[in-house]
Amino acid sequence: MTPLAALIRARITEAGPIALAEYMSWCLGHPEHGYYMTRDPLGAAGDFTTAPEISQMFGELLGAWLARVWLEQGRPSRFVLAELGPGRGTLLRDALRAAGRMPGFREAAALWLVETSPVLRGVQAETLAEAAPAWASRVEELPEGPLFVLANEFFDALPIRQFQRTDPLWRERRVGLAPDGEGFAFTWARPEAGPELDQAFGPVPDGAIVETNPVGASIAGWLGARIAAEGGAALVIDYGAWDGTGDTLQALRAHEPVDPLGDPGCADLTAHVRFRALAETAGPARTHGTVAQGVFLERLGITARAQSLARGKSGAAFQSIAAAHRRLTHPAEMGNLFQVLALLPETAAQPPGFET
Ligand code: SAH
Repeated sequence: MTPLAALIRARITEAGPIALAEYMSWCLGHPEHGYYMTRDPLGAAGDFTTAPEISQMFGELLGAWLARVWLEQGRPSRFVLAELGPGRGTLLRDALRAAGRMPGFREAAALWLVETSPVLRGVQAETLAEAAPAWASRVEELPEGPLFVLANEFFDALPIRQFQRTDPLWRERRVGLAPDGEGFAFTWARPEAGPELDQAFGPVPDGAIVETNPVGASIAGWLGARIAAEGGAALVIDYGAWDGTGDTLQALRAHEPVDPLGDPGCADLTAHVRFRALAETAGPARTHGTVAQGVFLERLGITARAQSLARGKSGAAFQSIAAAHRRLTHPAEMGNLFQVLALLPETAAQPPGFET
């Protein structure tokens, strides 16, 4: 048994089954043994690969987006540029290269990384050494001023709660000890009334599962209030959908799905993002989208960018640019599964990529 499994076991033995969100918090964020605290999970040698790790085009297009939105808002001479969950820092490095072409942008930006993992902070410090970023553990620690935020595959990594409809009540998913005494098993709490779930999800069939992301909702609420008050924008990209029900908890290890209860702290645990819930808590900012990632990147000019990168190349070098373009945009790859949501002040113009 891993040290983390032993700790979770002791907790359950003492207090009874724990909520799924608590289990996920232990697995992902335990200061010593949590998944993100102990490793760099990204890339071919890790557990999963993200868009910025597929191609420089992704970060470059997002950087150009930021620069245009900054320009539209009157080029604030001092602003906070923050990334939530920056992974290896690749996205921000590519974004800064592109946004830096807009005169004045780079000089005006104070760079902040919101990151809890000491291992990934180390990688980010190397990738972004020239940009001299500062780190925070929570959005609330970010300094004042207009705030421009990128968050790619961040909200999916936060702990979720799951509830099942047992009409007219709801019961919450918990994690307890497996009956054979080895490992863990899902159980349910006693059914209870859930007026806020009734309101959030409307009528759902008996037996349906719904998910909430309390930390994500509180971060979206904070971002929305801050951007409405001081200006700026947030661009949230993740897998999920505007709305929906169903069990989307998944565990990935070495790019393969594994049992989420199998080896606590050793697999990446994620859930699909329900963008509607983020948008609803982000008022008083105005939300734009969601737009499918493929459509969004096409509107920002990914095809022209791919053509310019491919110019003069042939063979494997050419193929890899074409493959990255396809992977990021094709509906059967990341193009539809990933969705994009933007938060801007009420008075700001519609941002690029969200034309209706
Ligand atoms: N955005 C990156 C990495 C995505 S992985 C990319 O696209 O490649 C998720 C990232 O969120 C990691 O950097 C992880 O350490 C960070 N993270 C997870 N939970 C967090 C939390 N509660 N607060 C801050 N960062 C968190």
